[in-house]
Amino acid sequence: MNFAGGREMVIEIIPLGGLGEIGKNMTAIGFDGEYVVVDMGIRLDAILGFEDVDIGGMSREELIGMNGIADDTALRGKDVKAIVLTHGHLDHIGAFGKLAHAYDAPAYGTPFTVELTRHVIREERMFDIENELKPVMPGDIVDIGDIKLEFIGVTHSILQTVVVAIHGPAGTLLYASDFKFDDEPLLGYTTDYSRLKQLGDEGVLAAMIGAVRMNEPGPTPSEAHAREMLREVMNSAISSGGGVLVTTFSSHITRIKSIVDLSYEFGRTPLILGRSLHNYCTIASKLGLVDFPPELHIHGRPNAVHNLLEEVEASRDDYVLIVTGHQGEPTSILTRIANGQLPLKIRKGDEIIFSASTIPNPINESNRELLEAKLRAQGARVHKDVHVSGHAGRQETKELIELVRPEHLIPCHGTMDRLELMAEMGRQLGYPDERIHILQNGECLRLGE
Ligand SMILES: [Zn+2]
Repeated sequence: MNFAGGREMVIEIIPLGGLGEIGKNMTAIGFDGEYVVVDMGIRLDAILGFEDVDIGGMSREELIGMNGIADDTALRGKDVKAIVLTHGHLDHIGAFGKLAHAYDAPAYGTPFTVELTRHVIREERMFDIENELKPVMPGDIVDIGDIKLEFIGVTHSILQTVVVAIHGPAGTLLYASDFKFDDEPLLGYTTDYSRLKQLGDEGVLAAMIGAVRMNEPGPTPSEAHAREMLREVMNSAISSGGGVLVTTFSSHITRIKSIVDLSYEFGRTPLILGRSLHNYCTIASKLGLVDFPPELHIHGRPNAVHNLLEEVEASRDDYVLIVTGHQGEPTSILTRIANGQLPLKIRKGDEIIFSASTIPNPINESNRELLEAKLRAQGARVHKDVHVSGHAGRQETKELIELVRPEHLIPCHGTMDRLELMAEMGRQLGYPDERIHILQNGECLRLGE
């Protein structure tokens, strides 16, 4: 064991969620008894709900029991100095309302992430959350005693995503779970390659790198490519003269902006309908992250949605509807339209565009299949997978490892097969087995001994 000034020079890495699974990402990083927690996510498929789910009334124990949030029991009572939230996806911030109150520590995130976290807190009914939320931007460095948190901008399928370099007495750990390398992201910043390379020059003890898409060769196409795919499909759908409904991830502001712009370009009025779409779009607009035209209708409340759909039913060829329901969620607008529960009825000649992939789990797959079958049975044409992923494939993952050159490689955020694929890549890049670590939730890796 190395000692410096009588202090133990060890870094502890304790993944609490997100290893061997997709979702509920949460990791604790310890330096000499002081901890930084990175992300507090939920696992939506385990909670049997989606973007509209109301977990506010569920207890921590209930959610841990159903594998919906990380079991942080091992961390309770420890000296947690800070919580870092890398981006606003619910598998990274969704458990904040259930877990953060146990730690007397501020949480750091970009402005969009912070505002989305405030929304998570507002939905929380079991706990009072008093953690201070501190907005940071890429390039910022925050001092917490002997630990420095450095935020580095990356591209992903939600705006203002960062990876975090945690600099402590024992060395630097880079946590980079969700990212892609997109040089045409359409909105927001691009990945800060030069800082990542510089970090590699300075020396990185360990990197936790997301493995969620290690089964794809990559490179993952740009968001500009997604817009071109949409342009082609929307052009053909709109020129067929029927109703056009598009659904995508409510948090994917860039994609929503492309759909809005293309609707106007092809002479139709876009309408954004659904509670979660309203929530994300309103927050992004308020922060100035997206420039929606002032006349754009964005509605989440049932009455407003109902009234607008009556108008659309009367003249469907004037509009493009942007609605919730990309995973076939039972309470979404698209599913309720397909069920005949709303004033707009699906007719022959209507075109439904899924600008999303199905998140692979049995609930989503069966919900989506059912929804598509209902839409087709009513005469609609269904366009699927008009989408590009927000995650790096193998190619960009390799590029990241080569930029940062960590001494130790720790795959995270993925099922076991994906973690193994990254380990295999590590071996191909010359990492000996003792520098590649496949961890399990709750397991503690100590480096620097
Ligand atoms: Zn994400």
